[in-house]
Amino acid sequence: KFGHSSINQIHQEIYDYAHGKQSEIEELKQLAKFRRQFLADVSHELKTPIFAAQGFVHTLLDGAIDDKKNRMKFLKRAAKNLDGLDMLVQDLLTVSHMEAGDITMQKEPVDICEMIYEIFDQMEDNAEKHNITLKMNEPRYEEIKVIADPQRIYQVLLNLITNAVKYSDEGGRVEVSLNEAGSKLDIRVKDNGIGIPSEHLNRIFERFYRVDKSRSKAIGGTGLGLSIVKHIVEAHKSEIKVVSSPGQGSTFSFRLDKYKPQ
Ligand code: ADP
Repeated sequence: KFGHSSINQIHQEIYDYAHGKQSEIEELKQLAKFRRQFLADVSHELKTPIFAAQGFVHTLLDGAIDDKKNRMKFLKRAAKNLDGLDMLVQDLLTVSHMEAGDITMQKEPVDICEMIYEIFDQMEDNAEKHNITLKMNEPRYEEIKVIADPQRIYQVLLNLITNAVKYSDEGGRVEVSLNEAGSKLDIRVKDNGIGIPSEHLNRIFERFYRVDKSRSKAIGGTGLGLSIVKHIVEAHKSEIKVVSSPGQGSTFSFRLDKYKPQ
């Protein structure tokens, strides 16, 4: 009964058990490290707009309120920073819900073509201001339906198109294209903007990761847009891909299931 092989077996079991515990401990350590880093990143990101708004408000209280020429300017800057803070908190809540896994996708047939034109309408003023053209390979009246969570997919497209405009130079061109790929619809957002150096490509989907910190900060944004995009696209059982080269532009793409009426 206590033959050689069973002792070996017991040894093996003890070894496996210890090894399992060891990797559990490693996992917990990783998780703790990850949490600490997240908290540090969040605090840092929150501090910037809070300090800025605080600075403008205190300057006003300290007397700048009587300076007719500057008071409006200071108030507007304080408001801008508070708006940024609001956006950041909203994005943070979205990310934390998604990472906790408590967001379920409400999938239904969605006319994606119409949705893209809606986003174009919403962004028209901003694009015009920078002389950027928004283009689509399908006409507005074309009905192209996919199965998706409409609000979440709207957020994905809005983030990708906003980035395409944000990271383009004056006179740029942003093109969205829809192409059938079997039972899927391939969706692409292409710009001819500043592009992304290859060494940054697999990191841009991480939270708060920015290629050029000062430029991205000046342009505005929470640094969470692409991590939200990745979460939502993956929750639709797809993958977000990017092809880019500096000075040439970037193309982000993903696929969704086409809607097949019964
Ligand atoms: P942000 O709020 O900084 O735009 P995102 O998560 O949306 O945050 O994007 C992360 C980073 O990826 C950006 O700061 C920018 O450096 C880079 N990036 C995203 N989209 C583009 C694009 N279309 N062209 C060039 N760089 C981009």
